[in-house]
Amino acid sequence: MIQDAGALQILNRLQANGMEAYVVGGAVRDSLLGRPFQDVDLAAKASPGQIAALFSGARFLGRFGTVQVPMGQKVYEVTCFRTESGYTDARHPDQVCLAQTIRQDLSRRDFTVNAMAWDGERLVDPFLGQKDLQARILRCVGDPKRRFCEDSLRVLRLFRFESQLDFCGEAETQAAALLFAKNLAVLPGSRVREELVRALMGKRPSALEPLLATGALLAFGLPGPKQSLAPLDQLPQNTLLRVWALLHLLGGQRALFCQSLGFSKKFLENLAALSRAFFADCTTDLALRRLLRQGLGGEPEQVFLAFCAVDPGWNRVWPCWQRQCRHRYAYTTRMLALRPASVVALGARGEQVGDILQKLLDAVIEQPQLNEPGKLFLMAKALLNQE
Ligand code: ATP
Ligand code: MG
Repeated sequence: MIQDAGALQILNRLQANGMEAYVVGGAVRDSLLGRPFQDVDLAAKASPGQIAALFSGARFLGRFGTVQVPMGQKVYEVTCFRTESGYTDARHPDQVCLAQTIRQDLSRRDFTVNAMAWDGERLVDPFLGQKDLQARILRCVGDPKRRFCEDSLRVLRLFRFESQLDFCGEAETQAAALLFAKNLAVLPGSRVREELVRALMGKRPSALEPLLATGALLAFGLPGPKQSLAPLDQLPQNTLLRVWALLHLLGGQRALFCQSLGFSKKFLENLAALSRAFFADCTTDLALRRLLRQGLGGEPEQVFLAFCAVDPGWNRVWPCWQRQCRHRYAYTTRMLALRPASVVALGARGEQVGDILQKLLDAVIEQPQLNEPGKLFLMAKALLNQE
């Protein structure tokens, strides 16, 4: 079932050494769905020391009995069967114990579709994950309220999987997640960001709507939606554009969002550039070239697609954009018909070269027919003489 040579090799070696061992988690789920999987996790009935002894280059990871095993080009995580208890911080278990059976290990996992194990031949599915996979449902293993109360990250994981897999939360699971959404504030920004980005990049990011409506992400600059988030589902798969559209649709706080979740300054600047472009009045070819010159914060075609999804009024820019693509009118100095070397050959030095190229571009933006080597050469010469 799982087509991954390294994982099968690890599984075989563990089993050949008398250990009960399984592939678990997302790889089992995604293989059954026929989707490519991210990483392969394995579980074995053995101590971390016993597992590590079988593989050269194995390393212990964290304090929860996980061993990293390099195999082929990849690194796999093999975890001992375990149970978890006592989550006083609404995120980490206070106690982790070795479990005796795979069923016990699967019972600590978040959703039924993530709580299946495969031993190379047989699927172990005590919580009917396969049935939920077929029905495209996410359902907690055990009592949903207890599970979300134990670990707030599961709340975000629910909505991330809803979006990624285009599944729905089972009614009780969904209601419990929304009830405990307020605990998201205890999570570190980096984890929220990771899950949020994965949710946004999924098939149905609008699945986040009910979560946002609780106000649980207000501390991260995301208020409850006042309009539908359905346009998000139509956007190109680009993190910047999807984050921009989310903030735009929510009226979110860009700076707070980036700061609390650890996005870079450049990312924040690109978000601002997108908003500037979105509100620019762009109905003529000239206006489009001016806009492109300012920088959109992203690749133009994708940016326009995103703008159209958020505001169909932006469809008006398509004819201009198509003409722009056909004629390749210059909107950066690199698109000018005169190389910087030619400006240097005229005697320009240092910053002067860039300044002259910018002035040439100013002229070419207004009159694209000026973008010919001879014309630009003469203009550059005249500019140099003026200085
Ligand atoms: P993907 O790798 O596509 O993100 P995944 O389901 O494999 O999805 P991982 O974070 O790799 O997610 O975790 C592996 C498995 O560990 C999950 O399938 C689930 O069984 C379990 N798991 C992960 N995080 C939690 C959690 N917070 N609570 C309970 N079980 C969890
Ligand atoms: Mg995984």
